[in-house]
Amino acid sequence: MKLEGKTAVITGGGRGIGAAVAGSLAEEGVSVVVSARSESEIDAVAEQLRSRGHAAWAVPCDVTDPTQVSGLAETATEHLGQVDILINNAGTVTSAPLKSLTLETWNRTLAVNATGVFLCTKALLPGMVERGWGRVVNIASIAGKTGGPYISAYSASKHAVIGFTRSVAAEVATSGVTVNAVCPGYVNTPMTDRSVERIVEKTGADPESVRETMRRTSPQNRLMEPEEIALVVVNLCDPGARGMNGQAVVIDGGGVQS
Ligand code: NDP
Repeated sequence: MKLEGKTAVITGGGRGIGAAVAGSLAEEGVSVVVSARSESEIDAVAEQLRSRGHAAWAVPCDVTDPTQVSGLAETATEHLGQVDILINNAGTVTSAPLKSLTLETWNRTLAVNATGVFLCTKALLPGMVERGWGRVVNIASIAGKTGGPYISAYSASKHAVIGFTRSVAAEVATSGVTVNAVCPGYVNTPMTDRSVERIVEKTGADPESVRETMRRTSPQNRLMEPEEIALVVVNLCDPGARGMNGQAVVIDGGGVQS
């Protein structure tokens, strides 16, 4: 319980990876604020954590809106006293061949996945630096390290997250704060369920064969589970992990090796 007494904000904490990270941090004794746009989802996650005896609050916020992000930082600080850990997890996936990728989809993808990370980090990192301890973990993707057909906007947004992670990590390297990213392959979450549905709609393929194709992107021939991503995130937050800085850790069963 080396994180006992610490505090964290998890964006996109209403489901999937974010909800798992909130649960794992809470199990380590971290007081958490879970945030996302859907109030019913974050309320349910916070309520479930409280029912297990943890300190948890739900604070709604759209990470693309600077005013809402300032509000999140303020309200989270009121609940938690201070914010020691920021998990930038809120994200959206879009896919389209370049010829039909609209400017609107490009802008929306970059706004949520990249600008959201920038805004939340800008709001909460200065306090960590001032106090001499903090952890920022950005949930990127293997699409932040490699490209692929139909994901140019998503891949560009995740490459942006990794570049941002590396640069901010260098900027705060002597402060006691670390900034890292994790890069999952396909994870068993509602986002992946929606991706399967979209592919089935567009191609008429059988859902199980779509899932099988996704599984085969990993040498372990499986989807990752949200709890596995949460475990790596918690380890990056550990006070003993102070030498891990500016890294983008792949969690995909060994497919992308960089
Ligand atoms: P889900 O769609 O299951 O959850 C995404 C979360 O982000 C939700 O809580 C959603 O809530 C929130 N969110 C989305 N848009 C915004 C916004 N504008 N402002 C605030 N919150 C927002 O996704 P996953 O759990 O699968 O993904 C989490 C992260 O992991 C994402 O960054 C994703 O890109 C990344 N990732 C996922 C992989 C996968 O295979 N699933 C693989 C690699 C990376 P709401 O809509 O209510 O706001």
